[in-house]
Amino acid sequence: AVDSEPPLSLLLETAKNVKSKVKAGSSVVFWMRMGDLRSFADNRALSLASAHAKKADVPLVVLFVLSPQDYKAHDRSPRRIDFTLRNLALIKMSLEEKHIPLHTITEPTRRVIPQKVVSFLEHLDALAIYANIEYEVDELRRDTQICKAAQAKGIGAVFAHDKCVVEPGAVLTKESKTYAVYTPYQKSWLKILNSNIPHFLENCPEPHPNSELVHTMPKFKVLFDTPVPESVLGFELDAADRRKMEESQVTLSKILQRFLHTKSRSSQLSAVDPLAAGAVDSAKQSRIAVYDAERDRADKDTTSRLSPYLAAGVISARSCVRATMPDTQNGAKRVDGGRWIQEIAWRDFYVCILAGYPRGPALEDAYGEGQGRSNPKAELPLATVESNIEKWKTGQTGFPIVDAGMRCLNEMGYLHNRARMICAMFLVKDLMVDWRIGEKHFMEKLIDGDLASNNGGWQWCASTGVDSCPYFRIFNPHNQSSKADPTGDFIRHFVPELRSVRGPDLHNPSASVADKLGYPRPIVKHEESRARAMRRFKDPGSP
Ligand code: FAD
Repeated sequence: AVDSEPPLSLLLETAKNVKSKVKAGSSVVFWMRMGDLRSFADNRALSLASAHAKKADVPLVVLFVLSPQDYKAHDRSPRRIDFTLRNLALIKMSLEEKHIPLHTITEPTRRVIPQKVVSFLEHLDALAIYANIEYEVDELRRDTQICKAAQAKGIGAVFAHDKCVVEPGAVLTKESKTYAVYTPYQKSWLKILNSNIPHFLENCPEPHPNSELVHTMPKFKVLFDTPVPESVLGFELDAADRRKMEESQVTLSKILQRFLHTKSRSSQLSAVDPLAAGAVDSAKQSRIAVYDAERDRADKDTTSRLSPYLAAGVISARSCVRATMPDTQNGAKRVDGGRWIQEIAWRDFYVCILAGYPRGPALEDAYGEGQGRSNPKAELPLATVESNIEKWKTGQTGFPIVDAGMRCLNEMGYLHNRARMICAMFLVKDLMVDWRIGEKHFMEKLIDGDLASNNGGWQWCASTGVDSCPYFRIFNPHNQSSKADPTGDFIRHFVPELRSVRGPDLHNPSASVADKLGYPRPIVKHEESRARAMRRFKDPGSP
């Protein structure tokens, strides 16, 4: 059934009417989700829940629901799930120091999660449940259901905006609509941040500790005793794989400091261990200072590498912005709106699109509404050749930059932004494959997989949806390669067959070089596939 009201408004409206019990209850519950894995720093719903628990003089309990079915439905990658569990285990330990239990429920059937959560609240005689909003439509509907069930039981329900710096709905067009174009959105976004409304950049306080007595109460004691599972879908990553993206707060703060303050190395392969890159620094400026000029270099280590932490909510987007804010003379602080901050705004923008166009062309399919697509450009006749898709996924296309990107994705679960764009555009425009196949594949591989950003990135490359790249902009993989990887370090690292190649041949190896080194010949001729894409975008009926 399709709701008449947008799912986000419905949730906020329903939550407004849910009142907490008047009679005494015995706890307040914070429901931590996959995107807000922070127990101390700057978690809005957690802070609110803690303040409520303190005022009512009852223990605070943290709940996490693991749902294998949900992870499959969202194409969550093993790396992202593993990263979640590793962070949860740390969070459980750190909360215990404050006598706050973290309890995980593993629920195989997604549909029954609301029931399970409400039974848990009843069991704990909870005054209220608090959570940060997840903007995906299924999640909004689930939470609306929970609100209604909580209301029937006299349990309060509070859902807070936390994922974005500026929450969806806070900046709107003159017609009070969600922005569909990034540039004006970003201007309004910056304006509101600098309008001294403390809410957007507030640093939400840490939770208060529970009384030690909580350990003596059987109902709560058992919650401390339940461990966080080490695996939910039967896979386990090896230690080497885990080291590529460590879960500790110490690592995270090193990564942030390294980006903001440490001097940048002149050349460093970005796709390899991000922390090793901090070891030697030779250039004069910090990474953020050279970000504008060098962020498109896949062969350098110039971007922040914070996306896995931001996607999991291990760090808040607010605190990333705060960390960049210079003091002005009178002590007031301003967001400078530099290039890196604009990328954080892109992240917010895509969440706004997700929340604001629940059944619009941009995200209709990602929502699984099954209503068909209303964007005519998406009706292009495709050339889905299964063997080409497989070659793209495994990095065997014969286009070195695409192959390096796809192999990097497989090996690291992370990919530089420019390389994501090159790989995505190659799939949709050179191979004429449905962008949703690529979107799903990225989600299944990325440690930072996020529906809003991934869908937004894919639709940009596919020239569908809102504010996307014009259809006639078709990357030439060879030219892109020499711009994104001028040293060739990125390709040589991930495509070992080409390690001995120097100069322009690396970006476009001749047939004889490819054959000699055992590297595949190109699976398409770019000029021909470019011409085909142009023809079909102009006239979907053309060959
Ligand atoms: P930085 O350049 O340091 O940027 C800082 C932060 O800003 C990032 O961590 C990220 O949170 C945000 N950001 C940067 N660029 C973008 C962007 N274009 N769109 C939205 N947010 C951005 N990002 C994800 O977090 N998850 C995804 O699933 C995802 N899928 C993508 C798929 C495609 C096809 C494309 C083209 C881009 C995708 N991105 C995604 C955006 C971007 O590639 C990554 O956020 C970025 O590469 C992460 O590296 P970083 O942390 O060093 O970024």
